[in-house]
Amino acid sequence: MNHIDQNLISELEKITDPKDLIGEIFRRFGNRAAIGTSFQLTGSVMIDLAIQAKIKPRVFTLDTLRLFPETYAFFKTIEKKYKITIKKIKPDPKKLEQMIKQHGEFLFFDSKEKQEFCCHLRKVEPNERVLETLDVWLTGLRADQSEGRSQTPCFQILEQGEKKRPILKVAPLVNWTENQLRDYAKKNKVPTHPLLDWKKDGWYYESLGCIICTTPISPNEPRRAGRWRWFNTKTDDKECGLHIPKK
Ligand code: SF4
Repeated sequence: MNHIDQNLISELEKITDPKDLIGEIFRRFGNRAAIGTSFQLTGSVMIDLAIQAKIKPRVFTLDTLRLFPETYAFFKTIEKKYKITIKKIKPDPKKLEQMIKQHGEFLFFDSKEKQEFCCHLRKVEPNERVLETLDVWLTGLRADQSEGRSQTPCFQILEQGEKKRPILKVAPLVNWTENQLRDYAKKNKVPTHPLLDWKKDGWYYESLGCIICTTPISPNEPRRAGRWRWFNTKTDDKECGLHIPKK
């Protein structure tokens, strides 16, 4: 029996190789562990590492129903390459219908509150539903992604649901840099999302989310500046709520 506690973290902390760490987690927790990914490069690399560790990982993604066509096509690329099925978690249809009826399809332009409401309904709530079925949530968070993520720990115990059940959130590649990831992907022929290779006049996509809410960035902008561009602030701490600690 694996208890989610500090002892478990101490044991896992001894495993310094991310491939071995991911392998060990899936061997211990089986389907009670899953990789949650929106198919940035870190997510694809984590899946590859799991496969190299001889694991067929449970993988889920949040299908907000507003993703880029390239993202939907990329799900199939990954499924075919690794012979896995990605579970696409969708928002609650009734709540979605009600939100659109009340606020309109493009409510995220109106205010920060409405953007957060949309993100909550399309991402946070569906993610919570998955977390109810997990003991270990593997994420692709990296310290170099933004100022707000620079202090991301590799291991974190979360209190899940009303019962505050402990679950372990793990970011196996938290200390990897973009170059390390790119090198790994190239060397191991990991498929990359086509929009992450897109470039025009120096503009490129640094992170990918919903269509409209995600735009390319110029070389001098913070990495998450392309998200909800109409709310741009001086910092790059723009989050949808998935990785913000619950109050
Ligand atoms: S990123 Fe935009 S469309 Fe997607 S859930 Fe958030 S506000 Fe809604």
